[in-house]
Amino acid sequence: MRCPFCRHADSRVVDSREVDEGQAIRRRRSCSECGRRFTTSETVVLAVVKRSGVTEQFSRDKVVRGVRRACQGRPVDDDALQQLAQRVEESIRAAGVAEIPSHEVGLAILGPLRELDAVAYLRFASVYRSFSSIEDFEKEISDLRKAIADSIEPDDSGKRADDA
Ligand SMILES: [Zn+2]
Repeated sequence: MRCPFCRHADSRVVDSREVDEGQAIRRRRSCSECGRRFTTSETVVLAVVKRSGVTEQFSRDKVVRGVRRACQGRPVDDDALQQLAQRVEESIRAAGVAEIPSHEVGLAILGPLRELDAVAYLRFASVYRSFSSIEDFEKEISDLRKAIADSIEPDDSGKRADDA
């Protein structure tokens, strides 16, 4: 890491400490040429391993782009997509792994997406769970119905008629 003041290539670490509950290390460095001090930060890169074996850095934007395709024509705005991508990243980081297969990123998207929009979820799930038959869809839809029924409180009877 070059000194930001004189561009000298060599520096000495004078202090290093963990920050963000051990998620990052910050180092105070002293330039061996000009003696000025600067701080560097080191974090673990959350890497996604693609099917080809190539790794790339996890990207929320990429999650948003993938999910947006499944949300075409659905009432899902960009804020909701950003929040979803954030939840996906948090759940992956919480698992405490430094590398995750790209397929598992897709699976981590399913939970939050199901809460967001059922139709988009089905579209997305059909790709990531490799649905191969109508039965796969039927099973998923019946699970989805159950989950939705469980999450909706029953209305007071007769209330709906009064609304008109
Ligand atoms: Zn310097």
